[in-house]
Amino acid sequence: MLHYLESPIEFLKGVGPQRGEILKKELGIFSFSDLLQHYPFRYVDRSRFYTISEANEEIAYIQLKGTITRITSVGLKRTTRLVANFKDETGTIELVWFQGIKWMRELLKAGKTYIVFGRPTIFNGKINIVHPEIEEVALQPNANQAVSFGKLQGIYSSTEKCKVFALDSKGILKLQKNLIQGMPSSLNETLSKNILNTYQLISLREAQIQIHFPKDALTLEKAQLRLKFEELFFLQLRLLKSKQIRIEKIHGKLFSRIGEYFNNFYHHHLPFALTNAQKKVLKDIRQDVGSGKQMNRLLQGDVGSGKTVVALLAMLMALDNGCQACLMAPTEILASQHFETITDLMKDMPVKIEILTGSTKAAKRRLILEQLMNGELHFLIGTHALIETGVQFQNLGMVVIDEQHRFGVEQRAKLWMKNDELPHVLVMTATPIPRTLAMTLYGDLDVSVIDELPPGRKLVKTVHKYEANRLAVFGFLKEQIALGRQVYIVYPLIEESAKLDYNDLMAGFESISREFPLPQYKVSIVHGKMKSKDKDYEMQMFKEGKTNILVATTVIEVGVNVPNASVMLIESAERFGLSQLHQLRGRVGRGADQSFCILLTGSKLSNDTRLRMRTMCETNDGFVIAETDLKLRGPGDIVGTQQSGILNFKIADLAKDSAILEKARNTAVELLKQDPHLMMAENNMISEKLANSEKISGNFSRVS
Ligand code: ADP
Ligand code: MG
Repeated sequence: MLHYLESPIEFLKGVGPQRGEILKKELGIFSFSDLLQHYPFRYVDRSRFYTISEANEEIAYIQLKGTITRITSVGLKRTTRLVANFKDETGTIELVWFQGIKWMRELLKAGKTYIVFGRPTIFNGKINIVHPEIEEVALQPNANQAVSFGKLQGIYSSTEKCKVFALDSKGILKLQKNLIQGMPSSLNETLSKNILNTYQLISLREAQIQIHFPKDALTLEKAQLRLKFEELFFLQLRLLKSKQIRIEKIHGKLFSRIGEYFNNFYHHHLPFALTNAQKKVLKDIRQDVGSGKQMNRLLQGDVGSGKTVVALLAMLMALDNGCQACLMAPTEILASQHFETITDLMKDMPVKIEILTGSTKAAKRRLILEQLMNGELHFLIGTHALIETGVQFQNLGMVVIDEQHRFGVEQRAKLWMKNDELPHVLVMTATPIPRTLAMTLYGDLDVSVIDELPPGRKLVKTVHKYEANRLAVFGFLKEQIALGRQVYIVYPLIEESAKLDYNDLMAGFESISREFPLPQYKVSIVHGKMKSKDKDYEMQMFKEGKTNILVATTVIEVGVNVPNASVMLIESAERFGLSQLHQLRGRVGRGADQSFCILLTGSKLSNDTRLRMRTMCETNDGFVIAETDLKLRGPGDIVGTQQSGILNFKIADLAKDSAILEKARNTAVELLKQDPHLMMAENNMISEKLANSEKISGNFSRVS
């Protein structure tokens, strides 16, 4: 028998085939359960009455009590609307209907007293309420309160199309009522008594009722807590389960020894001493690869914290155990940067390294593939080109992925499949991600953090300047150039408005060239539309110090390393997100000199933008910046659309619910420790729900 909550939505009282279709198309509600999880996005207090004199647009929803004095139809046929004048002792407003006019005409009676509820808007300079909820007071047993829906009333998101079918917030509320009335009292709990007790959670059934029809604010809070916990707990449990399965089922290559390659480099060619944080991470990696299990580790570390050399040492561990290694980066520039860095570090070592990208010539590519197969090649560095079919390693033992969040999960998976025996995987993030996000996105990975910068780094001084200060800013750049430093000037380039941005960039380049004329100054430019040969040339000129200024789009965002560049000027800084700004700032402060980051903006800024600029000026700590970014933008925007699917929460909010997430995660960890395969009777409900949620989450087809 079909579980009540799995019933198709059209079978719910009050829905039927036509509205069922609308609910599916517009709101993605296919089943009773989907509806039940269509939670209110806010609540309004129906016990509070306003007077008409208090009504203004600032109040999202108001409830009024008064008398209808006049009802008229206004306008011509197709634009007709019904207007009712509504009055209390403080004034008069208009109630307006564009739809259901005939019905409302019959219902409303001049001279009678009503309770009205809705969103005040201004039209023609007057306050009115369009399509209010309205109830006659005489029909109320308790005349001072609209009792039909309780005190706190949920407000639901809906669409214009829905509204045509009376599926506005109120319509949805009615359906929720029908659903809950029909809900069997035997509805399954999903958490064990133990967990419910530990966190003082109310039952699932109670939470589901109270979230839609809260008795009072306190109960609503309890319902929200319960449902958020539920959502986060099962997600964490799923992630931990998949990690568990990976550990139990999948064998990794056993790197039993640290050998010549590693030791020789570590003791004789490493140009600096590792920081303690770097050593700690290496230890983690060493332990993983020596365990016989496959390593799946996320390496977090701020810009400039020295992730590359850690990656290289991990790659050397592979060599010592007869394996090849590869490093994959998201852009060609970054790939060639890594190639150069690593080739340079390996210059006195018998290690053969190649680079493979989309622009590698066919003949060269053939040679690389051949050497990859016969084992002549030790390290391969590149872009996505590495995971194309046809790229076959003789014995791939270690995969490093830099700037992870640009790679989709599927691309990651593809790499895993390149060998019979899975290689170890080290994923490095470009910028720190907040703990809550990391736990969710990479909940199935182990995490290491480099929380210390190499010694001797000077913090980059960051200032925020307005357009009006531009000349002074240019003056400062000239001083720095006179000291022998180099300067980045970055323009935003956002995909959708690329053409406009492009013009900005070009105009900017011209005015910079005028302001910094030849022969005294030399200005380079790089952007995404250039041929990579030209890009490389310009980058090379800048790297070698042959140009003073590099005008660029965010192509340089990731990874470029020019220690002599000490000034980063960011044009239209208000258009960049926080982590992007931080990433860009990380391009300077790499040498011994004091470095500067200048955020140039217009004068009219939103509060969010002000906060972004202030955060940048106040801190250099990537983790602090990531947290602020999460609060400002929400998780979906931070990780990009590729992976945001996993973040489609019904009720939890990673920016706000980190404490609940922490508890949910710990609970899941504890649970699997005590009952790894969820065999204990008391955990039956949990394993059942887990199986169910896997079934549902596997079925993405219904989303589109
Ligand atoms: P990121 O973590 O941003 O990828 P990189 O690996 O590019 O950082 O390192 C930034 C710079 O710091 C590089 O020039 C690198 O050579 C240098 N570096 C890395 N580790 C150390 C260290 N322990 N001591 C001194 N310099 C280091
Ligand atoms: Mg890097």
